[in-house]
Amino acid sequence: MKALRLYGPNDLRYEDIPIPEIKEGELLVKIHSCAICGSDLRNVKAGGSSHGMTLPRVLGHEAAGEIVKIGQGVHDFKIGDRVLLSVTVPCGKCDYCLKGITNLCDNKTALSYQYDGCFAEYVAVPSQLVKTGGVIPIPDNVNYDAAAIVEPISCVLNGQELSQVGLNDTVVIIGAGPVGVFHAIIARILGAAEVIISEILEDRIEIVKQLNIADRVINPQKEDFISNVLKVTKGQGADVVIVAAPSREAQEQALLVAKKRGRINFFGGLSKGNSYISIDSNLIHYKELFVHGTSDSTVIHMKKVLKLIKDGRINTSKLITTTFNISEYKEAFEFASSGKALKVIIKPVN
Ligand SMILES: [Zn+2]
Ligand SMILES: [Zn+2]
Repeated sequence: MKALRLYGPNDLRYEDIPIPEIKEGELLVKIHSCAICGSDLRNVKAGGSSHGMTLPRVLGHEAAGEIVKIGQGVHDFKIGDRVLLSVTVPCGKCDYCLKGITNLCDNKTALSYQYDGCFAEYVAVPSQLVKTGGVIPIPDNVNYDAAAIVEPISCVLNGQELSQVGLNDTVVIIGAGPVGVFHAIIARILGAAEVIISEILEDRIEIVKQLNIADRVINPQKEDFISNVLKVTKGQGADVVIVAAPSREAQEQALLVAKKRGRINFFGGLSKGNSYISIDSNLIHYKELFVHGTSDSTVIHMKKVLKLIKDGRINTSKLITTTFNISEYKEAFEFASSGKALKVIIKPVN
């Protein structure tokens, strides 16, 4: 089968490799759509990841497809079932798993890190992922491309549940890449009254305007970010500030535009060795701020997002900029890194 395997820094190869053999408890899924994630771009550049990735490795984890083979002992699925896959494989036994916070599992592994991923015609779904509910049936009215982008949107939903975004909130989102755009959409669904986006790339600002997902867009290279947010919020600041850009400065500024009792979410991680920031802790103290992060999501978040798509509350067709055949992977990765695209999907089958 055709697959994209990572061998080292900027060494992603389009190869012919054997179709995986499945073992007891596993499923073989024929991949119809697999979206490119920001982490794929970073991992290709770095030649791996600090999250225990071993090489060579088939990348790709935002995926949907069709079950074509069922391992011994699996009874919940049948051949031909349309499914989307969760990424994180939780142990099911640690304190976090027992609390349902499987994204923080102490012993977690993940598709495309410790197991071959989904930029391939077929993927063997690990038995532990099958057992822990990570193979999710797709409703008839949701296509494979839409199902493939459930995972990144579910991470955004996890973040906003933690930030307690709710009715009438003013939400500031720093960064309008795909993740920032998803944040704007989810904030509105959760009841936000005013969504303000900060972004420096003109192409992305244009996308935000076309999608009509923000009440206001600020380009901090052209106008002052802090004073503009304060002006719009009558000097009070925003209820929620989400930093969806890998920027230290953005994290530092987030505290300055949050309202008293505001929630600040460091959604995007900073690059390794570049993750120290400088903040006035008195702001947190006197304004009673809540500063937290978000990483990954659970199957429950994925099911909630799938329902939003099924019910037409998220129009995914506007969020997928284009699809490429797997053979055009170079073009696809280039386009995904260009800042001109939202989600880019790779199709391993014609
Ligand atoms: Zn991802
Ligand atoms: Zn666990």
